Amino acid sequence: MIGLQLKEDVALGVTVPSRHARGRAARIGPTLDLILSNHGYPPLLEQLLAEALVLTALLGSLLKDPNGQLTIQAQTENGIVDLLVCDYMGGQLRGYIRHDPDRLAEAGPHPTLFSLFGRGYLAITFDQPATDERYQGIVPLEGEGLAEAAQSYFAQSEQIPSIVRLAARKDDKGWVAGGLMFQHLPEGEEGRDRLHTRLDHPEWPHVAVLVGSVKADELTDRDLPLDDLIWRLLHEEDEVRTLDPVLLSKGCRCSPDYIASVIARFPPDERAAMVGDDGLIRVGCAFCATSFPIPVEEA
Ligand SMILES: [Zn+2]
Repeated sequence: MIGLQLKEDVALGVTVPSRHARGRAARIGPTLDLILSNHGYPPLLEQLLAEALVLTALLGSLLKDPNGQLTIQAQTENGIVDLLVCDYMGGQLRGYIRHDPDRLAEAGPHPTLFSLFGRGYLAITFDQPATDERYQGIVPLEGEGLAEAAQSYFAQSEQIPSIVRLAARKDDKGWVAGGLMFQHLPEGEEGRDRLHTRLDHPEWPHVAVLVGSVKADELTDRDLPLDDLIWRLLHEEDEVRTLDPVLLSKGCRCSPDYIASVIARFPPDERAAMVGDDGLIRVGCAFCATSFPIPVEEA
């Protein structure tokens, strides 16, 4: 795509044919600020959601179906964070976190993934209506962070050796998050059933070492285009191909009309109990933290 700066709010697909590897790189900047600013979370949770959103962009951009949806959901028992949900559809991202503010304040500045999530799990769902494919895999939420949890998702749930790197930071321009994900597809074809997978295939560790050498500063460098970043890591490979970039933006599927139609399905006495002093029923969308005042006569 000529003239497109592959710096922010974009995901880029990559293949390394001779190594049977495919990858995605993504960086979110202004879009990330738009999503986070609505929620008003403490910085620690902004960081967590920023990393989750860039992971969502990496996974979502794997979808071939333009109406496909990718959802990641981290859920816990007794965690400080009890729910984190992000989804992707056609380049649009959204997400939110539900948490206990008092327990978060007690946890100090650098809580581990375990102290945030307790005993939790990560569910990743690929939904592709065009081919009627729906696939969900669930793994325990373990390790250092979301990147490690995503790697174990691919290893355990899909038997695909993968490497995932995520980083997010805030500076005077706002939030920026970047990520890389590479996977080994020994049969060279995406989506084909596998009869066996060799996790020790020698060409894979080579790619994993090169990709794994990426620094957090590079992932979040707003001035470093994603294709240059890929080139920096993989320039010694025989051939590295990039796919068409996917533009990323903030999006939500909530709408006042839809919410009014949901309210209209409640019995009249329950509807009456929802009405505030101003005669409006206020319904919030957790994903985008928007409140919709619905006049009672419209419901
Ligand atoms: Zn919404």
